[in-house]
Parts: sequence; structure tokens; C-alpha cells
Amino acid sequence: MDIKENLDRIKSELPEGVRLVAVSKTHPAEMLQEAYDAGQRLFGENKVQEMTAKSRLLPQDVEWHFIGHVQRNKIHLMAPYVSVIQGVDSYESLAEIDRQAARFSRHITCYLQLHIAQEETKFGFSPEECTAMLEKGEWKNLEHITIGGVMGMASNTGNEAQVLDEFHRLRTLFDTYKERFFSDYPDFSTISAGMSGDYRLAVSAGSNMVRIGSSIFGERFYGINR
Ligand SMILES: *Cc1c(COP(=O)(O)O)cnc(C)c1O
Repeated sequence: MDIKENLDRIKSELPEGVRLVAVSKTHPAEMLQEAYDAGQRLFGENKVQEMTAKSRLLPQDVEWHFIGHVQRNKIHLMAPYVSVIQGVDSYESLAEIDRQAARFSRHITCYLQLHIAQEETKFGFSPEECTAMLEKGEWKNLEHITIGGVMGMASNTGNEAQVLDEFHRLRTLFDTYKERFFSDYPDFSTISAGMSGDYRLAVSAGSNMVRIGSSIFGERFYGINR
């Protein structure tokens, strides 16, 4: 697995303005360092303790994105260094991220995770829940967070039409929220969608941030401790 070659190939394919999150979960810090040496600065992890351990081994200028499900009792562990928490799916989590960011005199960007897949198991706000949360307006008082966009995962299926439809739904929700709630918030600008198997479809539907793991680092092996 040549990490640099994989990164170069994927980056050459992505249109201007689409950012690449290298999803390094389960892989050892040496592999992240290899990607770092090839120029990658943006990494995504889905376990707080694992990300924290790696953050101590990698250079300071890495931008860490937490892409897993947010457990409120673990936010304090990443609050000192995390740049973006992508999987936010409740107001309570936003409020806790704000509280922890304040404790560390920081500012943390959050993406609203939306449930776009037809599959039942994925986390995320339903569009109705998210709209209701935004309408309520309490989020405007949270001074240590910025809502930077939306994040979503399509169904894990070979049905391309369905996947494309789900990504379009995310795009439409982003546009709707931008117009209704964030027209005065230029930082609300990111649509995070697309993984190794479906990032081309995501980008064609308007994603401007892809999260790619196995196409960069190879298959993941989960040991007995996971
Ligand atoms: C693991 C993961 C990815 C990357 O998946 P690959 O198929 O390895 O590219 C992207 N997003 C989330 C939320 C993930 O958990």
C-alpha cells in the first residue's frame, strides 16, 4: 500500500475546492506520519481515545476531525485539540461541546449529522429534528462553537441511483438551512459526504469534503480489543 501514491491519485481526481479527510481509524501512527510526510494535514478518526493518542504522536499542525458518534462524556478528552466534530446529532451535544471548548478557551467547529440513508442503523438527526433544533434558535447563544455545515452517510448499497439520491437529499438540506438559518453565517459552508466506495457520487451531488479511509490506507483490521 503506497500511501503517497494513493493520496496523489485521489487528490488529482477531486475537483478544486473539495477537501480530503484522510480517515486513519485503526491504523498506526506511523501510517498517519507517512500521509503527513506526503503533505496530508487533515485526518479523521472515530474513537476519541485513539484520536487523542495519535494527536500526541503527530505534528502539531494536524487538523483533527472527529467523525464518529459523539458521546457526551468523552467530549472533554478531545476539546483541547480537535478542530471539527462532524457527527453532532443533538442540541445537547452542541451545548456540551460549547461548554468544553470554553473551558479550554477554544473554538470548535461542528457539522450537523443528518440521517439521509434509508438504512435504519445510521446515527444522525432526521431532517425534521434538525429543522426543529435550528428553529428553536438556542444554538445562536453558543459562543465557543461554529456550525460549519452538514455531514451524512449514504446507504451501503451497490444501488448507485439510491446513493446519489441520498447525497442529493443532503445537498438540498444544506441549501435549505443555508437560506433559512445561516444566510449571515459564511462559516456554514461544508457538505461532508462520500467515502472510498461512493465519493465520486457524493462530489457529483455537491459534496465539498470527502472522508476516505481504505482507498488511502488499505483495509482495516479490527483486533480483539475493538
Ligand atoms: C470509516 C469512515 C469513513 C471512511 O470509510 P472508507 O470506506 O474506509 O473510506 C468515512 N466516514 C465515516 C463516518 C467513517 O466512519
